[in-house]
Amino acid sequence: MPDIDQIVPEKYCLSCKGCCRFEGPRSAWAVHLSAGEQQALGIQDTMLPLSEPHADGTCTCSFFDLKANRCSIYYKRPFECRLYPFLINRQGSAVFLALDMRCPYASENYQTQRMRDHIAYLAGVLNSPANIRLLNENPWLIQQYPDVLNLSPVSI
Ligand code: SF4
Repeated sequence: MPDIDQIVPEKYCLSCKGCCRFEGPRSAWAVHLSAGEQQALGIQDTMLPLSEPHADGTCTCSFFDLKANRCSIYYKRPFECRLYPFLINRQGSAVFLALDMRCPYASENYQTQRMRDHIAYLAGVLNSPANIRLLNENPWLIQQYPDVLNLSPVSI
């Protein structure tokens, strides 16, 4: 699984109740797996398995440790999880690196120089030949996400 530098400080993630929770198993936000990730994780599906719905109707990723509010496979987590709060968003025939503004760190910091530098770094990572190949071979990693901020084109 490609390594991607992280920008969101751990304290934001540990105190947030947003990530790893989903409205349902087939939403665009649920985590999609490349063929290599399916094999590495022993999952025969293009999507991460989710829990049964909780009392509030949401489901959590089956690898999410609810008590600790942490990913139990953090160092083996899929590409989409490594990229988040950034996403690969399809808009018409174009594909963009996009940002989910519901992430508290993203909404507070998206105009900072540090964030601009990170976006430039991620645009380079996603447009690398290896990652363009990954996206071409696993097109379900590109979804149409509602209400995200498109940042930079991905040349697929
Ligand atoms: S694999 Fe880990 S980071 Fe990804 S959704 Fe599941 S718990 Fe969250």
